Amino acid sequence: MDYPTIAKPGLDDFSVRPNLDRYDALRESFSWQELRRELDGLPGGGLNLAHEAIDRHAARRGDKVAMYWEGAGGEEEQYTFAQMRDLTNRFANVLRGLGIEKGDRVFIFMGRVPELYVAFFGILKAGAIAGPLFSAFGPDPVRDRLEDSGAKVLVVTPELRGRIAHILGDLPDLKHVIVVNKNGRSQDPLAPGDISYEEAMASASPDFDIVPTTEEDYSIMHYTSGTTGKPKGAVHAHLAALQHMATGRWALDLHEDDIYWCTADPGWVTGTSYGMSAPWTNGVSQVIYEGGFRASAWYQVIQKYGVTVWYTAPTAIRMLMKAGDDIPARYDLSTLRHTCSVGEPLNPEAVIWGEKVINNQPFHDNWWQTETGAILIANYPFQDIRPGSMGRPIPGVRTAIVDENGNEVEPGEEGDLAVQPGWPSMFRAYWRNQEMYDSKFKNGWYITGDRARMDSDGYFWFVGRADDVINTAGHLVGPFEVESALIEHPAVAEAGVIGKPDPVAMEVVKAFVSLHEGHEPTDRLRNEIMGFARQKLSAAVAPREIEIVDSLPKTRSGKIMRRLLKARELGLPEGDTSTLEED
Ligand code: AMP
Repeated sequence: MDYPTIAKPGLDDFSVRPNLDRYDALRESFSWQELRRELDGLPGGGLNLAHEAIDRHAARRGDKVAMYWEGAGGEEEQYTFAQMRDLTNRFANVLRGLGIEKGDRVFIFMGRVPELYVAFFGILKAGAIAGPLFSAFGPDPVRDRLEDSGAKVLVVTPELRGRIAHILGDLPDLKHVIVVNKNGRSQDPLAPGDISYEEAMASASPDFDIVPTTEEDYSIMHYTSGTTGKPKGAVHAHLAALQHMATGRWALDLHEDDIYWCTADPGWVTGTSYGMSAPWTNGVSQVIYEGGFRASAWYQVIQKYGVTVWYTAPTAIRMLMKAGDDIPARYDLSTLRHTCSVGEPLNPEAVIWGEKVINNQPFHDNWWQTETGAILIANYPFQDIRPGSMGRPIPGVRTAIVDENGNEVEPGEEGDLAVQPGWPSMFRAYWRNQEMYDSKFKNGWYITGDRARMDSDGYFWFVGRADDVINTAGHLVGPFEVESALIEHPAVAEAGVIGKPDPVAMEVVKAFVSLHEGHEPTDRLRNEIMGFARQKLSAAVAPREIEIVDSLPKTRSGKIMRRLLKARELGLPEGDTSTLEED
């Protein structure tokens, strides 16, 4: 079904005039170098994301609130830009005292408490590379990431430390564990050798000269899943700050007086690029809400803080839709003037639902991924929305649809979504995996791994992933990671993992497993395997469904054919089965 275009008012009829008020002309005249002049830079010509996000604003309007924090238990705290500058300086001093040097990896494994944000920017000031981890992870994903990155320091809360205590001894590069006991929530004593964040911060100086980083020095790394192998660390440079700032203005339409709320977990790239850098490089106040998803609690956050710009995700929107339209009707959402979504396909019904139910605000879908570091394609406030489309590329970036040889195809044709390299927030490497990095480029294009179409007006439409990566509730899950965890269960001989369509989470992880001799396919065993995977991986990544089968379809070379498992699951044609191993 085609959904009617949502027409936007004339520019003068917006309550706040959009920052991006013309498209073609700006795309033609735009230059990143010119915008770069708006950043301070460091003495000597360098660039540091923490300076641009925090210190630059602390110097000009130090009393402005950077962060309104609301804890899961209703605690409230506020931090001004000046306070954030001093706290991040202290943390940078703590790291320096531990011998952390430029380029070292410092990882963060904690929920959404203010100390996470302090640690993150303190790491950048110290010249180290910040690696935030999704707080719902179980021990296996945490170990993989700390091991691969060679992280020297882990900043963690007592609860999450407890979850991964048994893997810490497996990590020879990890020299220090800093434990953040937010508001004394934990009564447990520190483990021997651990450092108390609170004690270290109390004795650290609030003055710190940022380690001179260049715009190309590495700043942040996020692990992202692929079809094969373990997750890869996509590494970004300090220059990404420029694109965070620009897209914060164009796509999120951030203005000086906004109150902004991003619901993404800081362990994923949206949580750092848009839950930290984009609002703060624009000097905008943001709300950080520690609690999990509950429709009424979320609407309450918007009402209480007077949120004006809201950035969330399709699964969350679909959960809000499911919770019912009577709930938002009980809250005052009248401050909201711009709402955006990212991470998975946003169905047209969800765009339209926003317009009907959320203060007449249709959700503006935009597209990007870990490797791109920032928004590349967006629906802008001034631009009519074609529901179901991800929008048009941002100024300064060229995106295209290409065929298998990397040649552009005609408008309307499906192909690989590709980007012309050179945008500021582009990933600079997969950590210690040059071969994998090189494999992402073809004929001068970066190939994103997504299939899409472009219409004749330059709007992009998502078709699907080009690989087996599963997108469940906006989290990319590599089937290989899940299969590896499953086969560690003593009863499991083989495992094949696919994404199964789901009306709310878009896809859920489904596993097919065959058993070793001597094990019976009982419900009890299935539940046990499910619990085993959850404990190792986390509920967000572990299979939601497990089916025990006699054997798995494999190629003659012994590779499990996930494509076939999926086709069979969905009742679709099996396609080419010429490489299928005979039973
Ligand atoms: P991640 O690297 O974890 O941020 O995931 C990025 C992937 O999520 C993209 O490559 C897409 O497959 C998917 N994705 C992100 N935004 C959208 C969107 N607006 N529409 C459809 N898929 C999206």
